[in-house]
Amino acid sequence: MIESPSFKTTNLFKRMMAEYLERGVAAKEKGIPIAWVTATFPVEIIYAAGLFPYYPENFGARIAAKKVAAAISAAAEKQGYFPDLCAYARCGIGNAFSIKRPVGEVLKPDVVFCSNAQCGSLQKWFEAAGRYYQVPFFLIDTPLIENTPTTLIKRYIVDQLHELLDFLELYTGNTFNFSRLAEVISLSNEACRLWNEILEMAALKPAPFGYFDACYHLAPIVAWRGTKWAVDYYKELKKELEERLDNKVYVIPDERYKLYFDHIPVWPRLRWFSNLLLERKALAVASQYTHAWAWRFDLNRPLESLVKNHTEVFINRGYEYRLEQKISLMNEFKVDGFILFSNRSCKPKALGLYDKYNIISERTGLPGVIFEADMSDERYFNEEYIKKLFGEFFDRLEREST
Ligand code: SF4
Repeated sequence: MIESPSFKTTNLFKRMMAEYLERGVAAKEKGIPIAWVTATFPVEIIYAAGLFPYYPENFGARIAAKKVAAAISAAAEKQGYFPDLCAYARCGIGNAFSIKRPVGEVLKPDVVFCSNAQCGSLQKWFEAAGRYYQVPFFLIDTPLIENTPTTLIKRYIVDQLHELLDFLELYTGNTFNFSRLAEVISLSNEACRLWNEILEMAALKPAPFGYFDACYHLAPIVAWRGTKWAVDYYKELKKELEERLDNKVYVIPDERYKLYFDHIPVWPRLRWFSNLLLERKALAVASQYTHAWAWRFDLNRPLESLVKNHTEVFINRGYEYRLEQKISLMNEFKVDGFILFSNRSCKPKALGLYDKYNIISERTGLPGVIFEADMSDERYFNEEYIKKLFGEFFDRLEREST
């Protein structure tokens, strides 16, 4: 197996993630409410209200990375949950019903917050969790934003944030602290700026950092955004990358191709895919998924700005918008080809992907490949089929670049 040099920051990540989970357990013991949140929920408000935010999607990704998603999912399927549901949901639900818990227990919520900007599966999963744990469920309902968000949509969501603040005041018994929100948003801005600068380094050729590295180091921008933790973590990662550039340490020193990789990786096969590309000296460098958190908040209009960033995410956008965003990333990172992942778990993302493949091919003239699998569940992973598809793709890439 070919391995690219591993990051020192990886150890820091493991330490900080373990500490974050321990802090969650300690918070629960101290009576600080555990708030389940979705990846695109305006978590800044939850931090400002003094609750401990916890991300079940991150828990699902950790189960997947440990290669135990199929076993945990089976416990949910036994309860009647359909195997075609998103694997994050199956793993979260399965964990509640499992006797064996290879990555520990999901932190039980005191209150569940959800935004349906990403998908309807999260909403149903979190609703079910609210019933199962018998805790309040708060939904931010986000209409699909086809192109430009209308004034009515923006007002509709800002109004819901006001309702959220009212709910939090009632729930915590404290007046909502807007100065604290400003501090939290400043920290989010700083972490997002660093994250963006890190992602941009993948545009260098050869690059010190690629998409699969970004997937590994993504959890802090999702889960710790709004804390000094996230800022400190990305400062360290950026410093390490700058040292790599000074010392000419690259993911692939003789990098030949840059590729666009669409959306979530196959978590249990992160290293496998990275090596598959490495063998042909190709580096995946950009994705809508990893770029989804490169946000910028306006401190003068905090609520409007939270709405803008959290609800205008690519996954809540129309077909043409998403297509153009993919192509724009391909242009920005000067890729030589593209990979689209038709993710069995993520129906909103996989919908229309074969048409997108054809349109991207036509508009960019780039060679591409599209494959079927599940981001978590290896029961739907066929190694030989993917190797064959990618072999043909790389042969074409080589032919067309000579
Ligand atoms: S992977 Fe897709 S379906 Fe699953 S929670 Fe995320 S957006 Fe929803």
